[in-house]
Amino acid sequence: MRKYIIMGAQGSGKGTQAGMLKKDFDLVHISVGDIFRWNIQNHTKLGARVKRIVAAGELVPDELVDEIVRSRLDQHDWNYGFILDGFPRNRPQAEFFLETYDIDAVIHIVVPDAIVMERILSRRLCSGCGLDYNLIYHRPAVADVCDVCKGKLIPRPDDTPEAVRGRLNDYHAKTEPILDLFRQKALIVDIDGTRSSLEIQEEIRRRLGLPLSVDAPER
Ligand code: AMP
Repeated sequence: MRKYIIMGAQGSGKGTQAGMLKKDFDLVHISVGDIFRWNIQNHTKLGARVKRIVAAGELVPDELVDEIVRSRLDQHDWNYGFILDGFPRNRPQAEFFLETYDIDAVIHIVVPDAIVMERILSRRLCSGCGLDYNLIYHRPAVADVCDVCKGKLIPRPDDTPEAVRGRLNDYHAKTEPILDLFRQKALIVDIDGTRSSLEIQEEIRRRLGLPLSVDAPER
């Protein structure tokens, strides 16, 4: 059983790294942001409650977030462990979490703000099928058109410069300080997130004592 938290500013690549760990080690990847986006896209009651907050890049109230994480973990479908992405984001969420769960390690991906800003402002999303693009790292063959479904590519509504700045401020003021809380309870690995995703993944595995390559079946 492996229980990890992955932390880093938006655009630090933590979702990509979490996805790679999930695939090879059969972990459940729990992204609170993905849960909110799914609810917004599918017009659920929860989606309606959080739509404006998420679009503005603000933090959703802790009680709601805690409840979502609790009910997700209560499904107990994580036989091999889980990786939490985007939670906890502040001290009350971290304290709530530590009351019930323990953790093996916190993976902390470090990327300078200027690089985060550049990466996020070049993100695009297909309005048809939802596929992610990045105008720096993963360009479509035809500008603004999805390679797969030919849908129009649009920025995420919460990827405006103001919203990104707000999220970065929140990250430094509220999220980074919780590393101190975890430092007494779990291993913290600080990882330079400015390299290629494969190099980053290799370092994470080395630092966590995980095998570097695994032939786990696709799930
Ligand atoms: P993310 O995909 O992690 O960037 O999350 C997208 C948005 O969902 C954030 O900007 C917040 O509005 C909301 N959100 C995600 N995780 C949390 C959290 N742990 N606490 C509060 N709001 C969150």
